[in-house]
Amino acid sequence: MRKTNRLPLAIGLLAAFWACRSPQNNAEQQAADTVATEVVAAAPQRETANELPPDTAEKAEKVAKTPLSAAPNLKQMPDSGFVELVTLDSTLVLDMRYATPNNFLKEKVYECDKCLLRKDAALALVRANQALRKQGYRLRLFDCYRPLDVQKKMWKIMPNPSFVGNPYGNGSMHNKGAAVDLTLADSTGRELDLGTPFDFFGREAYHAYTNLPPDVLARRRLLKQTMTAAGFSPITSEWWHYSYSRKNYPVTNFKPECE
Ligand SMILES: [Zn+2]
Repeated sequence: MRKTNRLPLAIGLLAAFWACRSPQNNAEQQAADTVATEVVAAAPQRETANELPPDTAEKAEKVAKTPLSAAPNLKQMPDSGFVELVTLDSTLVLDMRYATPNNFLKEKVYECDKCLLRKDAALALVRANQALRKQGYRLRLFDCYRPLDVQKKMWKIMPNPSFVGNPYGNGSMHNKGAAVDLTLADSTGRELDLGTPFDFFGREAYHAYTNLPPDVLARRRLLKQTMTAAGFSPITSEWWHYSYSRKNYPVTNFKPECE
């Protein structure tokens, strides 16, 4: 059962990551506060569960029932703190593939389907989702923060740097809580065609590959423009991967709490 009070998690993470805190300037803090206010203000207008597919509907319902006081205290949280995305925006669609065998490893490597990112990256992702919702889309998330031990597990299954980042090098941006794998969904949360499946390792997944129908190319462009405007950077070979490039965070290995 999903816990409704995430305050202890937020406080725990606050303490755990205070040591890595980098100095914030006032402008950044004000920007974060503004977004946080918008997030809280937007919360009562969450979509009803009926508009969502069954799996997402259940999650959204649980989140919608979460009292606003249980949302993380973003003002007090350092920018290196971790935030669970659905506590900020329940219209984000979770499709965490590594919490199921439906991924290229054919193995479940996460205990549960929590999507966490560092605070600033999380707020940036919410901004991107809000911008897309105005155009009738939503973001559908495949992967977010990935503990280093999970990276090692992936490497053991697939020790090929073309497919999995080497955990014994610098670590993946996912290990830093600063990367997200995602796609565009329609307003009901249904996944849209972006040319290849998630984790398709081939030329067709490259941003530079243009031998695709115009509507697919337009969706890739929209996703890229929106994510870039929110502060994320793409990588050449995966249309679904975006790294938050405005901050530098250390590799991390804490395991999200599962219910
Ligand atoms: Zn990725």
